[in-house]
Amino acid sequence: MVGMTERLRALPKAHTHLHLDGGYPLAAVQRLARAQGGSFERPARFRDAGEFFTAYGTMPALVRDLDDLAALCLALVHAEAQEGVLYLEPSIEPQLYSPRLGDLDTVTRTIVDALQRGAAETGIEVGANLTVNTGLEAGLAEDLARLAARFVGAGITAFGTAGPDDPTGPQRFERAARLARDAGLQVVIHAGQTGGPVDGPASVRAALDVLGATRISHGVHAIHDPELLARLAAEGIVCDVCPASNLALGVAASLEAHPAPAMLAAGVPITLNADDPLWFGADITAQYEIARRVWGIDDAGLARIAGNGVRLPSLSAPVRARFEAALEEWIGSEADGSGPDAAVPDDSLPNDAAPDASAGRLAR
Ligand SMILES: [Zn+2]
Repeated sequence: MVGMTERLRALPKAHTHLHLDGGYPLAAVQRLARAQGGSFERPARFRDAGEFFTAYGTMPALVRDLDDLAALCLALVHAEAQEGVLYLEPSIEPQLYSPRLGDLDTVTRTIVDALQRGAAETGIEVGANLTVNTGLEAGLAEDLARLAARFVGAGITAFGTAGPDDPTGPQRFERAARLARDAGLQVVIHAGQTGGPVDGPASVRAALDVLGATRISHGVHAIHDPELLARLAAEGIVCDVCPASNLALGVAASLEAHPAPAMLAAGVPITLNADDPLWFGADITAQYEIARRVWGIDDAGLARIAGNGVRLPSLSAPVRARFEAALEEWIGSEADGSGPDAAVPDDSLPNDAAPDASAGRLAR
């Protein structure tokens, strides 16, 4: 009999909403901190998103040189491959390391080369989403979009934004997004996360209408706007949803009240993602465990969610075919103990899969 975690780890997945600097394996980061005579512990909880964004900004300072950076990128790909990820597209922000470690081009090349080396070593496919924080000025965002464009077909697959929803709207990134789109990159925009029931849906609409987003990071506040949900479903806009992150930052009041099941019921294609597992302590497999355990989604439903990753334009044809075959094989494979009615003890979640901030809620 295969345990639930083991079976969900084996589910072939795409992982497309994972911030590089919030996704390095904890053990690798702790090793790096120890080598500098320090330590790294993730906070048990964040009071709010602001506190999280501040903590997130401390990670790059631990990276001393390009070798450290490459080692962390490589460790990330290996860790993701262990979780059944067949297509990985981390969000990278070379600007967090440049100019300290080198110019933007050198830092980007170091990250992309290490990610591609990880891909070659593990046999999975790896892209990258060059991401700008919403606090960045427009000119630098445009420079970064041009930089991303130079890596089309050479390791960068998308350009996007991250960080808190900008109350002034995304207009100043319009030109950067157009540069990226014209270069053939996917445009992946964080929206519908930090805003409320009104601002949240508005930010998703602006991502689509102003920036021409081809994919939305989060998008969970779209549930407050049935017309928007219908549009996301009709246009097949994939929303890369991150349940454990949403719980940790108070975007969702509880996992039971998380918008993902409503998005699925409305026909919105979602994927499940870890966002920042270094900080939230829940890897991608843990997100699927939440879907099984809290939302009662069966194997076929989980395979459909994983399958939404198959349709992403970033995947190469051979990997898409391998992904589809692996999904079919997974559905047909041993499923003992994996059904929603199977008696799964509450302590079956690995320690690392239950974020401290949400452990109580997971058990309820
Ligand atoms: Zn994110």
